Amino acid sequence: MTTGLAHLVPYDEAVSRYEPVIGLETHVELGTVSKMFCGCPTTFGLPPNSAVCPVCLGLPGSLPVANRAAIEYTIRIGLALNCTIATWCRFARKNYFYPDMPKNFQISQYDEPLCTDGWLDVMVDGQTFRVGIERVHLEEDTGKSLHVGGATGRIHGADYSLVDYNRAGIPLVEVVTKPVAGTGALAAVVARDYVTELRDLLRTLRVSDVRMEEGSLRCDVNTSLAPHGAAAWGTRTETKNVNSLRSVERAVRFEIERQAAVLDAGLRVVQETRHFHEETGTTTAGRSKEEAQDYRYFPEPDLVPVAPPAAWVEQIRAGLPELPAARRARLQAEWGLSDAEMTRLHNVGAFDLVQQTVAAGASPAEASKWWLGELARHANSRGTELAELPITPRQVARVSALVQDGTLNDRLARQVLEGVLAGEGEPDDVVAARGLAVVSDDSALTAAVDAVIANNPDVAAKIRDGKTAAAGALIGQVMTATKGRADAQRVRELILQRLS
Ligand SMILES: [Zn+2]
Repeated sequence: MTTGLAHLVPYDEAVSRYEPVIGLETHVELGTVSKMFCGCPTTFGLPPNSAVCPVCLGLPGSLPVANRAAIEYTIRIGLALNCTIATWCRFARKNYFYPDMPKNFQISQYDEPLCTDGWLDVMVDGQTFRVGIERVHLEEDTGKSLHVGGATGRIHGADYSLVDYNRAGIPLVEVVTKPVAGTGALAAVVARDYVTELRDLLRTLRVSDVRMEEGSLRCDVNTSLAPHGAAAWGTRTETKNVNSLRSVERAVRFEIERQAAVLDAGLRVVQETRHFHEETGTTTAGRSKEEAQDYRYFPEPDLVPVAPPAAWVEQIRAGLPELPAARRARLQAEWGLSDAEMTRLHNVGAFDLVQQTVAAGASPAEASKWWLGELARHANSRGTELAELPITPRQVARVSALVQDGTLNDRLARQVLEGVLAGEGEPDDVVAARGLAVVSDDSALTAAVDAVIANNPDVAAKIRDGKTAAAGALIGQVMTATKGRADAQRVRELILQRLS
């Protein structure tokens, strides 16, 4: 695998000399019960080719019928993204051959998308970037090819390929942004946070389960670079199927570093599709980009136009739930958190987790402290998202309750979290198995206090003379002797009491 270049320009240097422009095309599998143009179920993980019928297999003579729920979901997405909803539009045939597409064309939308011209605000480091939405259109998903025998799972080197048509015909919404300029060094983070915000929005709208790891949310990332002050934007590349939030950021970063090296060498960036490689964080060239004309789009003759009545659209608008941005503003006020804390919660993807932890009984301050502190550190060191850590908000709330009632101090609580993450069970199990509860009963503590006083006659004498600040040294030794399990406040009281 090669990037085609010996060197990359480090990201910070690249964005100091070049202006990046990004664009995102996000495919979302809708969570309807049945497929887009037939009655087959959309359930994930069924045995291969068990959820198929003549329509989604493209057999001769079969006729599609549009799924009303899918159209309603798409309008819901369009309204939440501040789009104009078309009063009349048509599906189009997008013609191309691919083994996982049984009809040899895909029913999509071309020049008449259902929703156009909206926006989504993305907060990055306290700054708001308004990402323009070009269009939201509805299409059908393709089947899935499985390449067998090769080392990489890609077609190159495979012995043979299998096709599963269960996914063929599942309703797919494509959300296409306008080019996003002016983000400078934040380009990669804006790309990631846009997808995060869009994912939260789609989840709130209950139109998709938005699972990137199962492919129900997939991203193509466009990136181009031009020298600062250039009259025109650079040539863009399209990195396909970037399948995690982290990968969105890494793909943009890599393309900026690669394209800067291309431009520095006096070469031209080739307009092409590129593949992102999860293991290395790099992209490699795929096919050069087809033009729209290559697809020979034409209006789908087997479907009637879609003309959603204004009253229906208004009814859908009235039924929209509280959207993430509004919910954040409301909860920030309720929780009394600063803008900086809210931004941080949002950036590390902890907002929902904190909300669920609060719902499970923790205070907002405690809940954000654990998710932003100890648990964020664990997520970082594992290279994973907070939400993917093997710990639930309910368990975090339990640890917080154990701190509140004095069973644990912060240091012990960190060990309990570590135990839960290591699969040792519920917080109470970890406390019992590791013997982590704070020792606050006086009989156990007095023995430790007396031993430390006996071993430190000089310090003890100072405290007797009224220099109580010296007690810190003795408290430290008692904590060491009890492996951090002593109640420090109680130890202090006991030391002062014995030496008064
Ligand atoms: Zn079907």
